[in-house]
Amino acid sequence: MNRIEFHCHTKYSKCSNLEPKQILKLCKYRGLQGVVICDHNTLEGVSILKKILSDDEFILITGMEITTNRGEILGVWIEESPSTNEFPEVAEEIRQQGGMVIIPHPFDHIRTSAFKVREDDVKYIDAIEVLNSRCMWPNGNKKALTFANEHSLLKSAGSDAHFSSEIGTAWTSFNGNTEDELLRAFKGGKTEIGGKTAPFSLFFRMAAHKVKQTLK
Ligand SMILES: [Zn+2]
Ligand SMILES: [Zn+2]
Repeated sequence: MNRIEFHCHTKYSKCSNLEPKQILKLCKYRGLQGVVICDHNTLEGVSILKKILSDDEFILITGMEITTNRGEILGVWIEESPSTNEFPEVAEEIRQQGGMVIIPHPFDHIRTSAFKVREDDVKYIDAIEVLNSRCMWPNGNKKALTFANEHSLLKSAGSDAHFSSEIGTAWTSFNGNTEDELLRAFKGGKTEIGGKTAPFSLFFRMAAHKVKQTLK
């Protein structure tokens, strides 16, 4: 099965220091077949990556981690930024573009930015991120998996990489090689998830990066 890093940030998210070029290099080095770029409310990083990507065997998917009035949601396979931040309108716009609505880290109660998913949201959602490597809240990922199973939602996993060490910590895998095959597998619930959570020392990296950004 081929692995896709399904949740990755570039330096165009303030909280990340990853150069687009570096992401390509590291993904390939770590045996990943593709990456979903999900910067916070911007498509700048992914459009730069599109320009520098020369290898058509590598899958590059446009996504965005969108800050809505209810918390963060992922729009994956989108074309442009949504025109609103109101949920569920944002979800509807994602779907109109042919994209998939994924709720990242829904039970990570450390993150105040998390979307707290409810039963009545299910009709607007395609998938739940059931493994997010940065989700260090006890049972956060487990609860996400239970929610996805109980509501027959699709499942994704990604590292939520902001720094180089994190790329490929978690992945969504599929049988196939092309983006079309991946999309079909994902929609059909035929993808698998794998990986682990990041070490606690990551909190210190995050804090140090934040200080550096504020001093800039
Ligand atoms: Zn971030
Ligand atoms: Zn993220």
